[in-house]
Amino acid sequence: MLQWQQAEGLRHALEGRAPAEGASFVALCGISVTVTRADIPELGGHWFDPTCLPCERAWLAR
Ligand SMILES: [Zn+2]
Repeated sequence: MLQWQQAEGLRHALEGRAPAEGASFVALCGISVTVTRADIPELGGHWFDPTCLPCERAWLAR
């Protein structure tokens, strides 16, 4: 299942479960990013970062 996750300044898409704080994941756009506390809404974070366009294109292609 695909989902969105903010990390390192962009909202990326990934396959599978949401990563935990401090975890890294490879986004659909192909880069590896690390999640911080501020990226997790359940921990008080806010998703103010813009959508990663390569991820959005990869998502729509699925
Ligand atoms: Zn991306």
